[in-house]
Amino acid sequence: MRLIKRLLLALAVVVLAFVVYAAIQIVPMMVKFSKLSACETGLVAPDLYAVRDGHVAIFVLKSGEDLIAFDAGNAPTNIEAGVRALGFDPLKFKAVFLTHTDPDHTKGLPLFKNAAVYLSEREGKVISGEVGRRMFGMRMTPKLPVAKRTLLADGMKMDFGEHSVVSVPTPGHTYGSTSYLIDGKYLVVGDLAIIEKGSLVAMPSPPTEDLALDRASVEKVMGMKGIAMILTAHAGIYRP
Ligand SMILES: [Zn+2]
Repeated sequence: MRLIKRLLLALAVVVLAFVVYAAIQIVPMMVKFSKLSACETGLVAPDLYAVRDGHVAIFVLKSGEDLIAFDAGNAPTNIEAGVRALGFDPLKFKAVFLTHTDPDHTKGLPLFKNAAVYLSEREGKVISGEVGRRMFGMRMTPKLPVAKRTLLADGMKMDFGEHSVVSVPTPGHTYGSTSYLIDGKYLVVGDLAIIEKGSLVAMPSPPTEDLALDRASVEKVMGMKGIAMILTAHAGIYRP
């Protein structure tokens, strides 16, 4: 009987500790996220589109007949509906560039069956477990829902018809977080930042892994010349 009492007490302590932890860490995060709104589905710049999937958006570049996605979104059915609403076929996507590998950015990947999947060499160390993803005091190893992927060196430039994409290292949210500069003027930043009272600020921690590093990356992108739009995954578009 005494043992059962002790076990129940231990369980109660664990539950209480979780509730306190949730109140301190998770609730403020949820409140902050509930105030953000991702880009609506539609054209955001010539040849550049947003597809909204609830709290997250992906971006799509159209280059002639080729389609390129930046992140893959959370719920495949929502992403497919958005992509088709724009008149695009998910099977016509040639490439998907991942800003990082949190699941709300990767779960839509199986939709784009014919696309090459790109992520940074640094983020490759997150999914291989070499570095992992730290959040809520734990270290996790996110999994990609597709087997094939290509790792990109920082600063890699790829041309798609008349459009170009350059990978820009912006670590902090995750170890390998990367932004993509389209045509030298549209920067897709994933979860690097949110927009608060008209300013671009680092995404809070959690879910950001290293807030100081993330802030340094935000400063770096704010110092980049010629940027017309900074496209965030959860907070819409910032125009410097
Ligand atoms: Zn996210």
